[in-house]
Amino acid sequence: MSKQTQSNWDVIVVGGGPAGFFAAIRCAESNSKLRVLIIEKSSQTLGKVLISGGGRCNVTHACFDPAQLVGFYPRGGLALRGAFTRFQPADTIKWFENRGVKLKTEADNRMFPATDSSLTIADCLREAATNAGVKVQLGTSLQKAGKNPTGGFKLEVREGAELFPLQTKKLLIATGSDLKTREIVKSLGHSIEEPVPSLFTFNVNDKRIDGLAGVAVENVTLKMESLTQTGPMLITHWGLSGPAVLRLSAWGARILFEKKYRSTLTVNWLGDYRLDSALEVLQRNKDWHENARKKIAAQPAFSQIPVRLWKQLTQFIGDKNWGDISKAEMRKLAEELTAGEFAIKGKGIFKDEFVTCGGVNLNEVDFKTMQSRITPDLFFAGEVLDIDGITGGFNFQSSWTTGWLAGSAIAG
Ligand SMILES: Cc1cc2nc3c(=O)[nH]c(=O)nc-3n(C[C@H](O)[C@H](O)[C@H](O)COP(=O)(O)OP(=O)(O)OC[C@H]3O[C@@H](n4cnc5c(N)ncnc54)[C@H](O)[C@@H]3O)c2cc1C
Repeated sequence: MSKQTQSNWDVIVVGGGPAGFFAAIRCAESNSKLRVLIIEKSSQTLGKVLISGGGRCNVTHACFDPAQLVGFYPRGGLALRGAFTRFQPADTIKWFENRGVKLKTEADNRMFPATDSSLTIADCLREAATNAGVKVQLGTSLQKAGKNPTGGFKLEVREGAELFPLQTKKLLIATGSDLKTREIVKSLGHSIEEPVPSLFTFNVNDKRIDGLAGVAVENVTLKMESLTQTGPMLITHWGLSGPAVLRLSAWGARILFEKKYRSTLTVNWLGDYRLDSALEVLQRNKDWHENARKKIAAQPAFSQIPVRLWKQLTQFIGDKNWGDISKAEMRKLAEELTAGEFAIKGKGIFKDEFVTCGGVNLNEVDFKTMQSRITPDLFFAGEVLDIDGITGGFNFQSSWTTGWLAGSAIAG
């Protein structure tokens, strides 16, 4: 993809990621008269698509009800509600299928290309852009952007050591989490929600989970600050991970950032059991005559708690038999099982999926068109906005949706 000699464009898309490509393709396919250019600062487009989903690209999620779908976005759900009625996962599936790419759904509803290769997605997007007449200029990074008094935008871009001017009637910013570009966005009148990490594991150093790395519990309820999440949890070398923890980290991203990643996590290892129902089960275990001479530590009262974990949670009782457990010990155990408190002392990284929240303030963007409410003819799509989803294909889906809407609106 060579350097473009032309300096005046109808549409310039800044950022050759999934949001930028989707917008550019939609725009050029809808209005073939428009000259559309993508500028990309690195030496290849779609870098994150290629490394995503462990090289398989988790394209979207098989959730087709917009009201349900928005529940997977700790930030941006409200704004995306209407947007998903216009372009949602069912449309993403069709979009790729119409271009020869079949998606498959896994047991947890994550969707991947049938080839299990992210290259299939990148190739499809690149081919669709070429076919639609979209031009791509690599190694070109936006440095400055200003509104022309007569309309349109005047840009300054860097290619290697050199700076060049470009002109465009409409400008779409799709630069993902790039912090430098967010400064340029501020210069165009927008405010930015400051970036903080989202989707991380909790560092917990506690003797109750010490040495249990790899032990998983199918359904726990977690409480932290005013937030609650349920789902599977995994004990790791450094603390706690698994879907319930990751979701909690995403919803609590800003609170935990402000608290310097120190907080108290309350764990109900029994999912939805209340204290009194846990006590009843413990009492039945004590009363069951066959149990009287069996060690508490060797005989979990709840099948969902793995034996190794049970052993450590009941350690405070000592080497007693079920028949010898006191009322006070039983109550303390029920409390431990339904509301055990753990100190979060920091955050870890979930695989390599480093996700941040923050970005362009959503109140400043019209989500029917993705156009700025502050600067006409300026559009946004993708992660540059203050939107983030939990893991599972939701982040790409918001890029497809906002990109498609922006491209449609720019095409007129
Ligand atoms: C390791 C990893 C794995 C992931 N896996 C998944 C997954 O499987 N499923 C999922 O839904 N989400 C996943 N995500 C999140 C997903 O990749 C992002 O949400 C998505 O890429 C955002 O798309 P975007 O187009 O907004 O931004 P990006 O993909 O970040 O693209 C922005 C582009 O703009 C370019 N750019 C930035 N500044 C400038 C500038 N000034 N001038 C020119 N170009 C510029 C960048 O080089 C980049 O190519 C993953 C993220 C990571 C890091």
